[in-house]
Amino acid sequence: MSREKTYNFAAGPSVLPTEVLKTATSELLDYHGSGMSVMEMSHRSSIYQEIFDETKAEVRKLLRVPDTHEILFLQGGASTQFSMVPLNLMGEEGSADYAVTGNFAGSAAKEAKKYGRVNIAADTGESNHTRIPEQTELKLDQNAKYFYYCANNTIYGTEWKYVPETGSVPLVCDMSSNIMTKPVDVSKYGIIFAGAQKNMAPAGVTMVIIDRALAGRELPFTPLMLSYKTMIDKDSMYNTPPCYNIYMLGLVMKWLTKQGGVEEMEKRKTEKAAVLYDYLDESRLFRGCALKPHRSDMNVTFTTGDKELDARFAKEAASAGFLNVKGHRLVGGMRASVYNAQSMEAVVALREFMKEFEVKNHE
Ligand SMILES: *Cc1c(COP(=O)(O)O)cnc(C)c1O
Repeated sequence: MSREKTYNFAAGPSVLPTEVLKTATSELLDYHGSGMSVMEMSHRSSIYQEIFDETKAEVRKLLRVPDTHEILFLQGGASTQFSMVPLNLMGEEGSADYAVTGNFAGSAAKEAKKYGRVNIAADTGESNHTRIPEQTELKLDQNAKYFYYCANNTIYGTEWKYVPETGSVPLVCDMSSNIMTKPVDVSKYGIIFAGAQKNMAPAGVTMVIIDRALAGRELPFTPLMLSYKTMIDKDSMYNTPPCYNIYMLGLVMKWLTKQGGVEEMEKRKTEKAAVLYDYLDESRLFRGCALKPHRSDMNVTFTTGDKELDARFAKEAASAGFLNVKGHRLVGGMRASVYNAQSMEAVVALREFMKEFEVKNHE
């Protein structure tokens, strides 16, 4: 199968813009006449520093990150933030509020318990995480050191459509699977973090946007590498950063800017998701897994309700070039991830394939 004949719906690592991969290819051996690949450069060199600074500037511009907030490029994936957040914000004998709306938020809450008290502000486990809690359902503690939530639940296919109101308690948000898909008021957040491999770059770099006022409060035993203050003071270069991934992230950000930025992405994502959801709502074979008001524009989860038929669909889809539509093992069924780099053409083609499958399999 060739790239031209396939559509990749993977949840992460996921499809990257072809244009970006072509640029990376053309610059792979010799970056801008430097005689080196970006992979071969010293991270302390001025030529690399320029790539790094440009990448940061693109992110700042795209998300309108205010001067109060620092942008960091770290390693360890989004999962390392599950530890880094409490280590840095919990303080001695502190507590934090967690909204558990899926697997990743659950893992984060579990990790935080090692470092302080965790108040479960909401848990949608009883509905198998098919929905997002309302603001009025959140059991908030005004003395919490922070409120933690996951903006888009990659596995279950649900997404927060509002920013929780927490008064003076700082918001911490895992935006791994919906960052850069719409404008965000960054000033409302203490920390935003995102693993890059869903929507920004290849796996290996994690972006953190942090209010500088929150740094420097880490627990005394916090590893140096897991202190936000270390990384802010050293501009993400206490040690070798994931240089090449940051370069790739920069290329994707430039591509995004050229497309029209996050405002344009918001428009496109709404249109792309609607193509699939409108069909799912009328299909007599398939149905969406998440509740309608809470469904994600990024990860569309669906099922026929029959395990064997689901498996057959995923298999036939793969043979027809629709790659990675099998759902996560925790949910079953199917999942089509439609991040920024996913084209409308791919989404329409998938819907047509589903329609054909429905005709053949619905008696
Ligand atoms: C993928 C994902 C993670 C885990 O990311 P890693 O980089 O693999 O640690 C965490 N949160 C969300 C919302 C994700 O989609």
